[in-house]
Amino acid sequence: MPSDAPEGPTPVVLPGYAHVYSGKVRDLYAPLHPDTGAARDDALLLVASDRLSAFDFILDTPVPDKGEVLTRLSLWWFEQLRDLVPNHVLSTEVPAAVAGRAVLVRRLDMLPVECVARAYLTGGGLREYVASGHVSGVLLPEGLVDGDRLPSPVFTPSTKAPHGEHDEPMSFPQVELAIGPELADRARELTVAILARGNEIAAERGILIADTKVEFGVDCGDLVLADEVLTPDSSRFWPADSWEPGHPQRSFDKEFVREWLTSPSAGWDRSSGAPPPPLPAEVLERTRAKYVEAYERLTGTAF
Ligand code: ATP
Ligand code: MG
Repeated sequence: MPSDAPEGPTPVVLPGYAHVYSGKVRDLYAPLHPDTGAARDDALLLVASDRLSAFDFILDTPVPDKGEVLTRLSLWWFEQLRDLVPNHVLSTEVPAAVAGRAVLVRRLDMLPVECVARAYLTGGGLREYVASGHVSGVLLPEGLVDGDRLPSPVFTPSTKAPHGEHDEPMSFPQVELAIGPELADRARELTVAILARGNEIAAERGILIADTKVEFGVDCGDLVLADEVLTPDSSRFWPADSWEPGHPQRSFDKEFVREWLTSPSAGWDRSSGAPPPPLPAEVLERTRAKYVEAYERLTGTAF
């Protein structure tokens, strides 16, 4: 977690916890020691807000229930992945004010790398492939198009850019330099395994996970899965029944938001640097419904 907390929405005051950081979506708190009042340095309360970011802006209008969907979906995935990788969750007993959207986690030293794996070709991976035939140093077959499934998932790490800056792709040697060859190998192996397991499970529920980003912390020399995992914020979910390579796919995430923001109705010039306008109620409701649908389809339980 970067130490320079950005300007942002004022996080809720939680008695017994000290606010330490707010990211684009989450607010982090250190639990206070009940006897001394000192902030614990071994645990964090990770509170997922309803904030939505699009085009690298945090939008003014929150999406109702989004924080709870992300939190509950990540907890569910941590369980599905338990035999592959240990995770940071300590407890789901949290203050009532943030019930359902917070978890108490082990506070870890986070790798300075966003661990991305791609099972299907689109977005930045597609752009790199079109330009060079490679993705993150991996040579791919010729003739692949937008939405094609890759022969096997590829690790495409990127930097964890400070607030307001874009994450930049990292080559594998750059990752080895940043965290050492052993952790780099392990991060690649785990990231790819998490995406593969995710796709095995999601396939039975009619969802393809095109790509995903995970974050690891280090504990006693080994990697621990932290942050969120396999959510619509960290991954591209595609409905399997409408998957058709050759053009951009329908998705489960922010498509209504992006579509509206780039439409004439929004009256917003993305290149102007001005913040996006507030979202209309209808766009918000459709976005909320998409998040809930992803949760319900994957977990097989009502939200
Ligand atoms: P940024 O940190 O650049 O703002 P972000 O906008 O994705 O990234 P959020 O997801 O809103 O951030 O906030 C989560 C933050 O908490 C991230 O910086 C993440 O690295 C950090 N984090 C997640 N789990 C842990 C953990 N177990 N220990 C320490 N830090 C963690
Ligand atoms: Mg994040």
